[in-house]
Amino acid sequence: MSFQRPHIEAMQGYVPGEQPQSAAVIKLNTNENPYPPSSLVQDALNSISVASLRRYPPPTAKEFREIAASLHQVAPENIVPTNGGDELLRLVMTTYVGSDDTIAVTKPSYSLYPVLAEVQNSTLLEIDLNNDWSMPADFAEQLNAANAKLAIVVNPHAPTGALLTAEYLSTLAAAFKGVLLIDEAYVDFVDPDQHYDSVPLIKLHDNVILLRTLSKGYSLAGLRFGYGIGPESLISPMMFKTRDSYNTDLIAQTLATAALKSVDYAAAGWAKVRTSRHRLQQDLNRLGILTYPSQTNFLLCDIPAAPGALALYNALKQQNILVRYFDQDRLRQRLRISIGTEEENTVLVDAIARVLAPPQ
Ligand SMILES: *Cc1c(COP(=O)(O)O)cnc(C)c1O
Repeated sequence: MSFQRPHIEAMQGYVPGEQPQSAAVIKLNTNENPYPPSSLVQDALNSISVASLRRYPPPTAKEFREIAASLHQVAPENIVPTNGGDELLRLVMTTYVGSDDTIAVTKPSYSLYPVLAEVQNSTLLEIDLNNDWSMPADFAEQLNAANAKLAIVVNPHAPTGALLTAEYLSTLAAAFKGVLLIDEAYVDFVDPDQHYDSVPLIKLHDNVILLRTLSKGYSLAGLRFGYGIGPESLISPMMFKTRDSYNTDLIAQTLATAALKSVDYAAAGWAKVRTSRHRLQQDLNRLGILTYPSQTNFLLCDIPAAPGALALYNALKQQNILVRYFDQDRLRQRLRISIGTEEENTVLVDAIARVLAPPQ
């Protein structure tokens, strides 16, 4: 017999993108940063002696909280450091959503949300985006009608790349009666000319939490470090009640602090990604592949019926190029392609061109 709780027994679990260990693979499937982390992160790692691991790490990750607070011009009390952004998602659910409550997300969006809602045994309300991936006009009304305790909006959006304005989010936060979690995993790649700044929302609204991660913008997906930004009333229950004691380890805290200290280095990489994003978009469009406007480090691409998205995915994989195919409504004719280095993007475009127009 099974010892699992019935709702755990019934669930599927998260299926991560493929993570091949071979360096020969051009890996454009899980939105990792194509550039290495700052050399200050390497220096910070070199400075850690294993003897220092005998003791527990700083329990509130004090130094990281302070550097993150100064970066965002908020107080340390507005920051909760977490083991990847994913832990923040789980913490918000644990703290603010009961098993009889409803969590609302847009469809499509990050495929981990439904899995975490299932673990929590909560009800999931998936609200379809419009045909052009914009938000339905009655989104807030739908949330309130369902009495949702939590709504998760990913901005800029995954997997489409679309950006909502901070003004829209402010109106949404004011209208919605539950907690609004804005997942900003890709915010570092937003073009500065968009003037997007959501941090002031945490002072205007008592129900807004922002998710940030070092996985994408700071090239540290392997480190597992993220954080939440929010009003102290939302942050402190997670900080002092629901979080695992010592949820972030000494090595991660030290490296994450060094990464934020070298934000200027990271920002130079974000600018390069934006330039490459523009170029890759043009190259793909020239091949007859439509792309959606993206403020992230990936492009969602419409693949022509011949060969079709799955066949193109497979053909690229045979050439050691990995992109992301989602076997999901509205995504089966599309591929999500992470922005690589200029060299990687060129290899990708050449490979796609050969698949679309094989030599006679
Ligand atoms: C990458 C990502 C996260 C957080 O990832 P971590 O590696 O756990 O920090 C959260 N939301 C979305 C949409 C993401 O793509």
